[in-house]
Amino acid sequence: MQRTLVIFKPDCVHRRLVGQILSRFEAKGLAVVGLKLIQVDRALAEKHYAEHAGKPFFEGLIGFITSAPVVVGVLEGNEAITVVRTLLGATNGVAAAPGTIRGDYSSSKQNNLVHGSDSPESAEREIAMWFKAGEVASFTPAGSEWVIGG
Ligand code: GDP
Ligand code: MG
Repeated sequence: MQRTLVIFKPDCVHRRLVGQILSRFEAKGLAVVGLKLIQVDRALAEKHYAEHAGKPFFEGLIGFITSAPVVVGVLEGNEAITVVRTLLGATNGVAAAPGTIRGDYSSSKQNNLVHGSDSPESAEREIAMWFKAGEVASFTPAGSEWVIGG
């Protein structure tokens, strides 16, 4: 089992797509083990996107992610990091393949609806950054053997 961090970004919240997109992750077999709506402050935004500091889109990205509440979650399942990134599709919504979340709902480089951790190291760092220990649940979702089998 693997955990990954997802952030339903301000465009997703404004466009009332959180429920629909969360359903796609659940339908794929991922379980929600942490979930909350928060207003991100600049310090957390800069820490989360530290790898992009200095890039031309950085200031805009920080402004965007702090502009309205986000829903942040921890999803758990088999190969959860890769599964989420595959469902999300390419970063640029214009280029993202149809059938992916960004391909189906985004036409923007920045406003691409959902963040997903890109590696086990990123997932561990990001979950610790966004959630306190007691905010992430540990349990075995019923029927997991039917989701993963084989
Ligand atoms: P991700 O891992 O697919 O989310 O993409 P990156 O880590 O490369 O970039 C982080 C976020 O910055 C993306 O999800 C976009 O919201 C934004 N972003 C990335 N590249 C660009 C760009 O070229 N222009 C703008 N305006 N935003 C970008
Ligand atoms: Mg990234």
